[in-house]
Amino acid sequence: MVKPQLTIQLSDAQRIPQIGLGVWQASDDEARAAVRVALEEGYCHVDTASIYGNEKGVGEGLRDAGTPREQVFLTTKIWNDAHGFESATSALDASLERLNVDYVDLLLIHWPAPSQDNYVDTWRALINAQRSGKARSIGVSNFNVDHLQKLINETGVAPVLNQIELHPFMQQEALRSAHESMGIATQSWSPLGQGSALSDPIILEIARKHGRTAAQVIIRWHMELGLIAIPKSITPSRIRENFNVFDFSLETSDLAAIVALNSGKRLGPDPSTFA
Ligand code: NAD
Repeated sequence: MVKPQLTIQLSDAQRIPQIGLGVWQASDDEARAAVRVALEEGYCHVDTASIYGNEKGVGEGLRDAGTPREQVFLTTKIWNDAHGFESATSALDASLERLNVDYVDLLLIHWPAPSQDNYVDTWRALINAQRSGKARSIGVSNFNVDHLQKLINETGVAPVLNQIELHPFMQQEALRSAHESMGIATQSWSPLGQGSALSDPIILEIARKHGRTAAQVIIRWHMELGLIAIPKSITPSRIRENFNVFDFSLETSDLAAIVALNSGKRLGPDPSTFA
């Protein structure tokens, strides 16, 4: 059952729910079960990618839950081996087939892979996919400001969103403010720092004060910053816990304490070199 939840309006006027289920490193079977649980708990946003190898499971989970397609916000991504207009177009068709859907709500270029120097052509395929109705919204992931600027300069079309590594230890202030000036929404991948931020003493202290868990404090922090977060879990109790964040808020002093946790150290690869 879809529950009331916060959404962010994208520059193309579509709305994206602020919390989604991430399914990286889940098998088809795990993703299928997790998606079903999440939708039954009230999530209506799922983030997968062709490289995760679980689009089939995600599609099955959507159907198991029985949520009407138009009530689910579904994202997938074009992997680095499918850059270029033709390859990206075929990759999307293959993703739609595995997901067993006619369209995705959001299609992202997974990484700019700048050494291939082809992401502008890939972007043209996404523009075309949006025109043909196979992707309602189009965006990117792991793009730096210069990559974003190049897309805009060469096609005149800005991504609605950039999905980037963002958690209390990697807060991405510069990129967030660049996004704001370009009208691009910020989506946080590894929002819990792949679990590493859950044992931080400052986070645990804030959680204790509010009678919440560390995961709930961090997810609430993403929400209060106006970010879109896609925490991953395949454990039903954690999936439920991570969505139970709409009935409390952080104090100014909590937000200030979390700012101080930023180390700027990445968990994932550097987008300017990853190919
Ligand atoms: P995450 O920050 O969501 O952390 C997931 C880890 O935290 C898992 O080990 C999980 O078991 C644990 N966890 C989750 N909820 C918990 C809870 N309530 N209590 C205790 N432990 C809990 O890490 P992630 O999976 O790397 O990122 C989330 C999603 O972001 C991915 O699943 C994927 O959809 C997306 N992602 C995208 C990119 C990209 O390049 N675009 C890269 C990485 C991840």
